[in-house]
Amino acid sequence: MTPAEELVRLSRELGREERQLAILGEGNTSCDLGDGTFWVKASGTSLGTLGIDGLSRVSHAKVDALLDRAHPTEQEIEDGLVACLADPAHQKPSVETFLHSLCLREPGVKWTGHTHSTSVVSILASTRGAEPFLRHVCPDAIVVCGRHVLAIPYFNPGLDLALAVRDGLAAFRAEHGKLPKVILMENHGPVALGASSKEVLNILLMLDKWARVLLGTFAAGGPNFLSDEDAEKIDRRLDEAYRRKMIEAKA
Ligand SMILES: [Zn+2]
Repeated sequence: MTPAEELVRLSRELGREERQLAILGEGNTSCDLGDGTFWVKASGTSLGTLGIDGLSRVSHAKVDALLDRAHPTEQEIEDGLVACLADPAHQKPSVETFLHSLCLREPGVKWTGHTHSTSVVSILASTRGAEPFLRHVCPDAIVVCGRHVLAIPYFNPGLDLALAVRDGLAAFRAEHGKLPKVILMENHGPVALGASSKEVLNILLMLDKWARVLLGTFAAGGPNFLSDEDAEKIDRRLDEAYRRKMIEAKA
């Protein structure tokens, strides 16, 4: 399967109507091609019905040219999205192309998926924002979504949001010494960062489950969060298992 075919498959999985992760034109996906370009969903297409012709190939270097401009106008950003195309025959890429480009250049990130999951947004758009996700209620979410998530307050989708995520990722790496698997954008939705398309799908499915469990706990008297100590224990065990795997792979 080509990366483009795999990205279409991931997009359709995320767009499955019964999953309530994205409807209509909501959400977008991308994968890095390792040659300075990446595939990203074209603007105005739907995840659930995406085809190969709904993908745009974009150049990281051309995205940088736009990111470096101080205070571009709305029109300059619109024109800039088209100018970022690696293949000018492709459609205008998603408005979140800047965000995808920045995430895909983080170490170990090859695939990203962004949805407007009903369950997750129900919490992110509440007065509590991303705060309920800063602690854990079940071990499985730690294993799949990571011990810590990166929370970003609301920004206008597009360039402003991408720059806020860039700063957020740098601060997260400085604090935790690794990247998050999940970015939670308040009043908007989640982004999953993965080494494979399967990892991105798993993260977004587990995050949906986590959010639905949280909503249930709020209805049942409030969440009984795991202690930081217990959450750390699971996280450390994962780190150790990962290190063992790396050592075995090298041997
Ligand atoms: Zn979005």
